[in-house]
Amino acid sequence: MDSSGQTEGVPELPEVEALAAYLRERAVDHAIARIDVAAIGVLKTYDPTPLALHGALVTGATRHGKFLDLDVDGIHLVTHLARAGWLHYRDSLPAAPPKPGRGPIALRVHLDDESGFDLTEAGTKKSLAVYLVRDPSEVPGIARLGPDALSISDAEFAERIRGQRGQIKGVLTDQTVLAGVGNAYSDEILHVAKLSPFALAYRLSDEDVTRLYGALRSVLTDAVERSIGQGAATLKAEKRSGLRVHARTGLPCPVCGDLVREVSFADRSLQYCPTCQTGGKPLADRRMSKLIR
Ligand SMILES: [Zn+2]
Repeated sequence: MDSSGQTEGVPELPEVEALAAYLRERAVDHAIARIDVAAIGVLKTYDPTPLALHGALVTGATRHGKFLDLDVDGIHLVTHLARAGWLHYRDSLPAAPPKPGRGPIALRVHLDDESGFDLTEAGTKKSLAVYLVRDPSEVPGIARLGPDALSISDAEFAERIRGQRGQIKGVLTDQTVLAGVGNAYSDEILHVAKLSPFALAYRLSDEDVTRLYGALRSVLTDAVERSIGQGAATLKAEKRSGLRVHARTGLPCPVCGDLVREVSFADRSLQYCPTCQTGGKPLADRRMSKLIR
């Protein structure tokens, strides 16, 4: 049921926001009964240990960029779900701990009402990361985060974008510049803003940057609205159904009907509409041309 293939990608701001809202509803005011660590490599910190959380009350759930943060009475269980990671909430968890090293379950959190959740990772590339810290800023990835994509002002956005030398696709997904946007939503934002993903950030006009900020706001707000209230189980399908260009190679652009194209970018691929974004000209695949040469 849950393929966790590449099209899903890393859960981004809207999905992590919805998971935090879900945990606020289901887990807050419950005590943690037990934590089972099934994949030892998933836990990136040594002190405090999971035992410190046993019997402690969940007091909050929030998000830092794409990191999920469960506040357990002052100790934070922080998760970065990465590309094939996910959270599965279950009303009734089996009492027996999951077998270490087998199956996708990396860590299981039991609450005092027998419900709880599994943090899972499909596939072989293990990049799901869990941190137990007294302050979220002890997590290196959180300490480096730029301002949050949902709360950044238009002026600060313009200043940060303009200060970058790279292509706008890479700039939007650089968590130190802007926190929360990844591969999927950057494709969507650039499509709405009618900008080429390869445009150089510092060369964008005032008008381009204003349009880009508007697209950032509308795409993310819309995705958060659709995601909140979805259970953890249905969030991925909801994300997929709202996408205009991302993971839609070969399908018609919902705005102009041109076919959505794909080009490689860094270690993955991006999707865009040539008519809407690049003056009708398909982008050259640089990785491919490098291989041919
Ligand atoms: Zn189009």
